[in-house]
Amino acid sequence: MLVGPKRLPSRPKTLSSPFVRHFPFRARGSFASVNPIHSPRLRLWDDTSMAASMISRHVAVIGAGAAGLVAARELHREGHRVVVFERESRVGGTWVYTPGTEADPLGTDPGRAVVHSSLYKSLRTNLPREVMGFGDYPFLARADGSGDPRRYPGHEEVLAYLEDFAREFGLEEMVRFEKETVGVGMVEEGGKWKVKWRMRNGGGGGGGGGGGNGRREEDVFDAVVVCNGHYTEPRIAEIPGIDLWPGKQMHSHNYRTPEPFQDLVVVLIGSAASAVDISRDIAKVAKEVHVASRSYEDKTLGIQPDYKNLWLHPMIEKAHEDGKVTFLDGGSVGADIVLHCTGYKYHFPFLETNGIVSVDDNRVGPLYKHVFPPLLAPRLSFLGLPWKVVPFPQFEYQSKWIASALSGRIALPSEEEMMADVEDFYSELEAAGIPKRYTHNLANSQFEYNDWLAGQTGSRPSEEWRKKMYSDSSRKRRAGPETYRDEGEDETLVSQAHEDFAKHPSHR
Ligand SMILES: Cc1cc2nc3c(=O)[nH]c(=O)nc-3n(C[C@H](O)[C@H](O)[C@H](O)COP(=O)(O)OP(=O)(O)OC[C@H]3O[C@@H](n4cnc5c(N)ncnc54)[C@H](O)[C@@H]3O)c2cc1C
Repeated sequence: MLVGPKRLPSRPKTLSSPFVRHFPFRARGSFASVNPIHSPRLRLWDDTSMAASMISRHVAVIGAGAAGLVAARELHREGHRVVVFERESRVGGTWVYTPGTEADPLGTDPGRAVVHSSLYKSLRTNLPREVMGFGDYPFLARADGSGDPRRYPGHEEVLAYLEDFAREFGLEEMVRFEKETVGVGMVEEGGKWKVKWRMRNGGGGGGGGGGGNGRREEDVFDAVVVCNGHYTEPRIAEIPGIDLWPGKQMHSHNYRTPEPFQDLVVVLIGSAASAVDISRDIAKVAKEVHVASRSYEDKTLGIQPDYKNLWLHPMIEKAHEDGKVTFLDGGSVGADIVLHCTGYKYHFPFLETNGIVSVDDNRVGPLYKHVFPPLLAPRLSFLGLPWKVVPFPQFEYQSKWIASALSGRIALPSEEEMMADVEDFYSELEAAGIPKRYTHNLANSQFEYNDWLAGQTGSRPSEEWRKKMYSDSSRKRRAGPETYRDEGEDETLVSQAHEDFAKHPSHR
């Protein structure tokens, strides 16, 4: 079905934005992020003509994980007509745990049947539930006491929350389940987008319908919002000599349980949250676990407190034909398996933009504020690219911005202004020596970024309790990776959160 804009918006007027703010540049080691909030002058629509000129668009959302769900809600609230394409048979994305893994344990074979989720069985959230939830639909423990009431619950509880969210806002009706998007490309005229999809398995469910058997179909939309997640396509560490090393390799994407590591000597690469969790999980059964990372400080290296079989090392120097793995400090171990907990690549196999958007060393660009390609804005947008952030609330801010830009409630800067902003941002990263692959790392600026987004749409900025609870939990996680989830609560912050939640009734 082809549906065009209902009415064209009136001419924008140029205003000096109240939201233009300049934040000091902050750099902290190689993980520093340059503050992305460096905005050109914004154009806002004339208030008097705004309501009359709101446009309802036919929008395709790719993916029904947390990002796609909140995008669907915000687009719908803004008056758009939404179709969500989801290749699986239920909502939740990453949070749908499966014991199944891919045939290629490293996950590098491009022809492999993809398993979407990277969750391991023992996974509990690494953020307290109060911080994690959407702004107006708090992630509360269930009133009837069912489920997992812990502040850092197991993954099943997050999935249940997302399912409740979808149900509460009638989102499943917008989802076409078991429909995998295989092509998203521009239509020659009118700025529209053709979306092609393939039916998987039964191909029915939700608002979709139709038979399965890999049948392909297509439709034309006014706009596309890409929400396909970025924890499925593994990044692998480059290890000199690995091709001749006789052991096995795998990526954490395919890690589920520790049992297969019984009595093995494991070298695990990485230092992020899942590397910390998985190394502890495996140490319960493995003979030895040796964790190698670029980012460990000398004082933390060696055998780990409370363990007899868990060591931290500097990065791997080389893997040898006799099965040994050597580290940069000269240490070595004879290992059975190398487990890469080395993160993921952005991957959009369905997207055809004639080179306008590309992925270069894990930089998706050019994107204005990590969301809009200047040349294709607002008809194409990317949701949820930033990392080292609290994802759900940020998805919500980005979604409101996208929905408002599509309806004409707000106007984006001109293509040239957006492009200049992106180029300034890239130059700042380069000047600070920050590699391209950290472009979307917002560790040091996520809340300023969220507040900037909130300013664009007149939404409430991030709550002070959420910022403080986030920084407290990060500090506790670094200090006690085994214990932080079950440490005592900061009662004052928790009660501030709950006072705030009381203002936003949730039916959970
Ligand atoms: C191991 C691990 C632990 C994590 N822990 C936390 C945590 O504690 N707290 C937290 O807040 N976040 C955590 N995260 C981050 C998590 O990824 C986000 O919370 C969030 O779930 C991401 O949502 P998303 O919608 O962007 O992506 P996803 O959840 O990945 O959803 C993407 C959806 O798109 C669908 N899709 C993909 N390609 C296509 C296609 N071609 N056609 C149709 N559909 C498609 C997928 O099937 C999927 O349903 C963790 C992530 C991982 C991997």
